Amino acid sequence: MSVLVMKFGGTSVANLDRIKRAAKRVGLEVAKGHDVIVIVSAMSGKTNELVGWVNETSPMYDAREYDAVVSSGENVTAGLMALTLQEMDIPARSWQGWQVPLKTNSAHSSARIEEIPTDNLNAKFGEGMRVAVVAGFQGISPEGRITTLGRGGSDTTAVAFAAAFGAVRCDIYTDVDGVYTTDPRVSDKARKLDRIAFEEMLELASLGAKVLQTRSVELAMRYKVRLRVLSSFEEPSDEAGTLVCDEEEIMESNVVSGVAYSRDEAKMTLLSVADRPGIAAAIFGPLSDAGVNVDMIVQNISEDGRTDMTFSCPTDQVRHATKAMEDAKEAGDINFARLDTDTNVAKVSVVGIGMRSHAGVAAKMFKALRDENVNIKVITTSEIKVSVLIDRKYMELAVQALHDAFELEKAGS
Ligand code: ADP
Ligand code: ASP
Ligand code: MG
Repeated sequence: MSVLVMKFGGTSVANLDRIKRAAKRVGLEVAKGHDVIVIVSAMSGKTNELVGWVNETSPMYDAREYDAVVSSGENVTAGLMALTLQEMDIPARSWQGWQVPLKTNSAHSSARIEEIPTDNLNAKFGEGMRVAVVAGFQGISPEGRITTLGRGGSDTTAVAFAAAFGAVRCDIYTDVDGVYTTDPRVSDKARKLDRIAFEEMLELASLGAKVLQTRSVELAMRYKVRLRVLSSFEEPSDEAGTLVCDEEEIMESNVVSGVAYSRDEAKMTLLSVADRPGIAAAIFGPLSDAGVNVDMIVQNISEDGRTDMTFSCPTDQVRHATKAMEDAKEAGDINFARLDTDTNVAKVSVVGIGMRSHAGVAAKMFKALRDENVNIKVITTSEIKVSVLIDRKYMELAVQALHDAFELEKAGS
């Protein structure tokens, strides 16, 4: 029997009517003969509310309790989805992460999946169950505590199940009908892509395009999962959505295939640190130990043996980064005159595998930003992307200007 994985995001299960609508889609796939594993998110807005409650109760919260709270939204939708399917006479059962069990490491709030045993679900499929509804986003640590996989983690749950069960496909149902050249909410010229290469999707996701969680794309690439992104609001069709696939399966592509942005960036600068061997290790070691995801790094020219070190990290990690730096200063490991934090920045990036063989992308990007009078604060590049940090108030303008400059509204440019 073939297994199909269908994942429904928050907007697709936002209320009982939407759960019914999603369940009907599951019914169509069951009728085609698939055994279906449905992964559900929490109702839209629910996880944000739960995170808010945790922060209000305990700003420097214990991550184990954070996970206990924020994982709960998915439990509700999993049970409701199973009940809805049962009402449609489809044999269905719900599973929370620990019941599967979806085993993760102990990195609470951003745990990584280690193993998904298939025997429990397969035994039920063997007894006639047609749909296993699994609560996304959550797992269990070796210590037996509930973990979560990071925001947007239900995508990763879905791909991991598809890999573990050798699913024919992993369909990610969301509120847009596929992956676009940029966020369709920011540019009305955004164009839907029929296909996108794993590597490009990986960059777009890690640079902020939240349509898929980065880790889900990594897993799909590693385990060769056929991954499709489509809308749960449009009429079902085999051609619908965007297929995330190997580069070889894509006939033509633009030099730049997409523009991504992230508004949750902060720029932190340590002013006047000693310019000596080991200083970078002394700064970034403690940041890493504090779980801060440092992204861009710039070290200024030094004067009189002192330099400024700038780095960017997600805004919600500023508190931890500040504490790590102050602790390191107090311990005498580093010395700096001041720590400046700018939380009014955003990162905008252009991505494309065509950049490997085409020069001039960065220059074109900088010119497009100059023409809009957008000042660039920090730049980073890799083989297939160029990212800049800019004032947040220009973020949408910059995304639109870059979309225009690279003519992304047209295919094959
Ligand atoms: P879900 O709740 O279904 O997981 P998300 O909100 O996590 O949905 O992701 C879908 C959203 O991702 C879209 O509503 C869209 O605004 C955003 N998005 C960002 N970049 C892109 C892109 N390049 N293509 C499609 N959607 C994108
Ligand atoms: N509910 C979780 C979140 O909002 C996981 C997900 O939806 O993928 O981040
Ligand atoms: Mg999501």
